[in-house]
Amino acid sequence: MTDRFSTTRRRFLQQSGLAGIACALPANNLFALTDRPVITVKNRAPLYASAFYPLPLGQIRPAGWLRRQLEIQALGLTGHLDETWPDVGPNSGWLGGKGESWERGPYYLDGLIPLAWLLDGATLKAKAQRYIEWILTHQATNGMIGPSSNDDWWPRIVALKALTQYQELTGDPRVVPLMDRYFRCQFTELPRRPLRDWGKFRWQDELLSVIWLYNRTGAPYLLDLGRLLHQQGYDWVAQYANFQYTQKITAEFIKLNEGGGLKDLALATHGVNNGQAVKTGPMWSLVSGLDSDRKAAAQMIADLDKYHGLPNGMFSCDEHLSGRDPSQGSELCTVVEYMFSLERVLAITGDAAFGDRLERLAFNALPGTLTDDMWAHQYNQEPNQVECSLHHKPWVSDGPESNLFGLEPNFGCCTANYHQGWPKFAGSLFFLSGESESDSRDGLVAAAYAPCEVRTTLRGTAVHIVEETEYPFRAKVQLTVNPAAPLEFSLQLRIPGWAAGTTIAVNGRREPDPTAGSFARVERLWKSGDRVEITFPMQPRVSRWFNDSVAVERGPLVFSYPVGESWVKLRDRGMTADWQVYPTTAWNYGLQMKSDGASDSISVTESAVSDVPFARKNPPVQLRVKARKVPEWRAEDGVANALPQSPVESHEAVEEITLIPYAAAKLRITAFPVLKA
Ligand SMILES: [Zn+2]
Repeated sequence: MTDRFSTTRRRFLQQSGLAGIACALPANNLFALTDRPVITVKNRAPLYASAFYPLPLGQIRPAGWLRRQLEIQALGLTGHLDETWPDVGPNSGWLGGKGESWERGPYYLDGLIPLAWLLDGATLKAKAQRYIEWILTHQATNGMIGPSSNDDWWPRIVALKALTQYQELTGDPRVVPLMDRYFRCQFTELPRRPLRDWGKFRWQDELLSVIWLYNRTGAPYLLDLGRLLHQQGYDWVAQYANFQYTQKITAEFIKLNEGGGLKDLALATHGVNNGQAVKTGPMWSLVSGLDSDRKAAAQMIADLDKYHGLPNGMFSCDEHLSGRDPSQGSELCTVVEYMFSLERVLAITGDAAFGDRLERLAFNALPGTLTDDMWAHQYNQEPNQVECSLHHKPWVSDGPESNLFGLEPNFGCCTANYHQGWPKFAGSLFFLSGESESDSRDGLVAAAYAPCEVRTTLRGTAVHIVEETEYPFRAKVQLTVNPAAPLEFSLQLRIPGWAAGTTIAVNGRREPDPTAGSFARVERLWKSGDRVEITFPMQPRVSRWFNDSVAVERGPLVFSYPVGESWVKLRDRGMTADWQVYPTTAWNYGLQMKSDGASDSISVTESAVSDVPFARKNPPVQLRVKARKVPEWRAEDGVANALPQSPVESHEAVEEITLIPYAAAKLRITAFPVLKA
């Protein structure tokens, strides 16, 4: 697969004359965006305080493997989507054309903008700027933005998210007045043209932009607009205070064949809507001040896990909530929207558990559903995915292309929307901790771990932090803290829930042992060159899933048995192609475990992290476990049958099998039956 894709990539680069783009992205141009003094904006009264605040976009720059991953994305479909997919091409309604005029243009911008500026890529910036210019220069006299042929509020919710990112990156003075005029227009219009379907179920994403603007202008009507959105929007907090959707949602249940697809029942059980909804309670708590709202995200995730949870960190949604069987799928839009919700919820609540989940999605589910070169993606991924081919099983309401790798399998929403995943993750690695209204207690928070560099300002002093690590593949994270002058502040370090036994050392001196599932706080007078070393425990662990099956984990990575893969091209799709993947080896293994649930013996092999961090070829970590085949566990119509209830009996020979990171195995078994002792 790697060879074929690298050949394909060379061909693309030759065709498009962009073979030099990787070199055109400067490796260390960190000052380009920070010449302007940019301070972190906190919540303005009467809004309630957040635990943490996102640093202005651009202050965190990816490095190491994360930068390579973003470069792969830029060289892949993200960097070329407008050249090969008419829906975001020159005829887009968001460029003034007569083409697609709904959500696809804004979706693409929502990921293209942060990717372009985080890589400082001139070509990518120019692509994004064309859309931005059109939006900024075509505001209607009444304040409406976007294509006049479609007045749906929903795609504008996405466009606003893109505009706020662009403003933080560039300081473009046109953005704030444009958003103000738009919100005044919508505040007048909403009483007679209220939110409906997607907008009604995704109102919390607009609240994000309303609060963003209120924190910058303080215009009181914005809080009233927020209240109106809350009043017209769907009550997600109530849905999860008394959660009813505990079963696999069927097409009959939502009356799909009777036009129920956009009715409340379908939208309330829709995967992407639920992924976006995770942020609702905490977002609204900034207005309401209610502790119950702030805690609603944890409740929501607990219910989704209990009834629809999968070992890759996702809940099933193909495309409605579909139970815990690891042969059910999760839509790529839901992966990236869930990640974005977690990034916001983590900042508002300061609850470390949301960072654990964010990493689980970023390091497993996200790369697991894209090809190594990011030219093709799936609509639905399955933890136990034994074939990617045209089949109707097991999807609740999705079509037969749903787990193909391609340009727009099943439906093109994910094609437009997945671009936000990696760049927004990179922008969320650090937060500001604002512990008082003034800046006197401001500190920094390492919220998720990956190699990066931070350049920000605390109380007028420039602070530079270099994070060097190969986490999640390795145990050590090293932070070098460089304030421009000695400065006292707190540095909070997220200690994952799985990481009991983590050690922290500052300049070689051991800190008190931190508590797993919390933020460890190092408060001192920082001087340039101070070094913080965090060492996480990386022994393999086992977690329990559907029918008492097990998954094997190490750090934030989930591991899978890589089924042999035969990639068969279904058809060319412009600059990319649609692929089916067929199994070439057996996959029906049960694992040999001790009675206490620990695997009999799991051995670990580490090798170098390659230029494609999540590739199947040369995975950075491999585990060896003992297993036997379970003959009665088979596939039907390309789908692994429901896992047999563990423990299971097998008289097959004991084999030692190799597990690799979930994302590296595009055909895989992740939840295994456990063998009888
Ligand atoms: Zn989608």
